[in-house]
Amino acid sequence: MKELLTFAQLIAAVVKRLATSGVYRPWPAEEVAHQTRAEAEQLVCEVMDWCRLTLLQHLTQEVPAQRAAVVEQAVERRLKGEPLAYILGHTHFYGRVFQARPGCLIPRPDTETLVEATLSFARSDACRRGVAEPLRVVEIGPGSGCIAVTLALECPQASVTAVDIANEAVALTRENAKRLGAKVEVICADGLQWLCDQADAGQSFDIVVSNPPYIPKRELHQLDRDVRDFEPHIALDGGLDGLDFYRAFAELPTGVFGAQERCGGFFFEVGSGQAQDVAELFRANPSWGGFAVSTRCDLRGIERVVEVVRTGRR
Ligand code: GLN
Repeated sequence: MKELLTFAQLIAAVVKRLATSGVYRPWPAEEVAHQTRAEAEQLVCEVMDWCRLTLLQHLTQEVPAQRAAVVEQAVERRLKGEPLAYILGHTHFYGRVFQARPGCLIPRPDTETLVEATLSFARSDACRRGVAEPLRVVEIGPGSGCIAVTLALECPQASVTAVDIANEAVALTRENAKRLGAKVEVICADGLQWLCDQADAGQSFDIVVSNPPYIPKRELHQLDRDVRDFEPHIALDGGLDGLDFYRAFAELPTGVFGAQERCGGFFFEVGSGQAQDVAELFRANPSWGGFAVSTRCDLRGIERVVEVVRTGRR
């Protein structure tokens, strides 16, 4: 009979297998050590339905054979490059747990910068001026719903709508909103077309936020394997130069933002090195003459967000 392992031994064995696999190849060695240990602990905690503290209290105890087999299946998936968030079924974003699954982009820490930028505008005097309650916020392409749900929870005075073309994203956004108690209206449609239709019908917004697909098509194959082979390309492919969606946003009618007295602003996540090109798309378009364009860096110092905000001055 196979000898039972303790949790400490199981974790050490998983760490070793993960670290010697190709999964973390581009990473610096010390980060691999840290990341593999963190992932091994998370996989075991998920299977045992434990928090980390409980795991640490059980390190010297034996792992029930049946649970060890479930951990083994999860490790096999990770060794094939599948992202941890898909295996666990969840990830963290802006201090909350979001469900994650194939078919929808996994929330990334970079995107917290987009949430910060949008929230600081939503809470600013400039935004509150002239806006009768509620603030109308729409997200185009929510994927997992992490942005729309966070905005709805952090900004309860806002009415938040999320529009996605993919059924998987619509379903997951609804699920995350429900689990976290956020009020988000979720619509299945082509978001850009939907915004035009809304503007035609006289329905406008104060804030339009989006983390659109922005990877240049020719760079898709160079993405890390876990992204390239497991995450949906519909959420990544931004066309030849990666800027197709920003171009389409810049072509939207200004009626998207309603009356002049109200605030109005686009908030976009952009890829590394794209911020100035995206800013220029709006600066060069006379339709946005009454809007100020600026950028904001993420925690790594990369220009990650482009903001296009109504100033009232033309
Ligand atoms: N940040 C994602 C990545 O680099 C891309 C997300 C997007 O295209 N919006 O994998």
